[in-house]
Amino acid sequence: QTSQPWKDFDRSKVYTADLESALHYMLRVELATHSTLQGEELKVFRDFVTLVSKLYPGGDPVVKLMETLSDWLLSLPLQQIPYQAVLDLVNNKMRISGVFLGAELRWVGCQGSRPGLRGYPCSLWTLFHVLTVQHDATPTSLDNTEGEAAPVLQVMRRYIRTFFGCEECGRHFETAAASSLEQVKNRDQQILWLWNQHNRVNTRLSGALSDDPLFPKAPWPSPALCPSCHEEKNGVHLWNQNQVLGFLRHHYGASNLSPRYSL
Ligand code: FAD
Repeated sequence: QTSQPWKDFDRSKVYTADLESALHYMLRVELATHSTLQGEELKVFRDFVTLVSKLYPGGDPVVKLMETLSDWLLSLPLQQIPYQAVLDLVNNKMRISGVFLGAELRWVGCQGSRPGLRGYPCSLWTLFHVLTVQHDATPTSLDNTEGEAAPVLQVMRRYIRTFFGCEECGRHFETAAASSLEQVKNRDQQILWLWNQHNRVNTRLSGALSDDPLFPKAPWPSPALCPSCHEEKNGVHLWNQNQVLGFLRHHYGASNLSPRYSL
């Protein structure tokens, strides 16, 4: 990660540039460490691409690319695919449809105050929060997973377990998913489960060396971002979960996505 000029941004917005950079990083960096995709890996990758192609709210070129990739992966009778074939398709599609994934990562809401901080993991959380909210907003777009209460979280869990470069993160996330994901019964709970899990990670990491001093880990959303999310009873802090849910729907909803700095 090289340093880039600081980009002004608004913490109450979500930036499509971060979501695009997340996909760029996944397809060109994270996946590249697997020279061949086969068996469970191939299935996890296919499910992830299909999920993004159905739920990604950020606009046409990204969705088109993910749809093409998804159709291609679903049509292949092969049990294994060289990573290079995925990359060729991504590059080819880009040539045909114009620019999609640029040559550089552009973190905006996920900028770090120095290289090596924030960036990809921040954008991965952001992407999955957006997808849980989008699944709620457009429920029919995942018809083939009817009956599964938390399809976005299931795909996320398998993606993290299989591909996420931070193995310690993967282990923690898997433990959390194994212990409580089955309690998620509907789309609202899916949104809230991820929020709650993310806050648990924030609490665990608060004050760690990996913390960006400009973005200290803290329970989120802050009282400044969402005053009505916070309540107090007998001196004890409580979340108002209805307000939190409404806030998450707004914050990670399609109308709060900013195309600024996007490709
Ligand atoms: P992040 O925590 O990445 O948050 C990104 C943005 O999301 C914030 O800026 C804020 O706008 C918003 N946000 C914050 N909290 C919430 C919330 N509760 N709900 C919704 N939105 C929120 N690092 C480790 O060192 N150990 C781990 O075990 C670990 N586990 C991880 C597990 C997963 C699944 C992922 C994706 C990452 C994990 N990481 C872990 C990385 C870590 O959580 C941060 O992503 C990283 O330190 C960068 O932090 P950040 O300041 O950009 O904020």
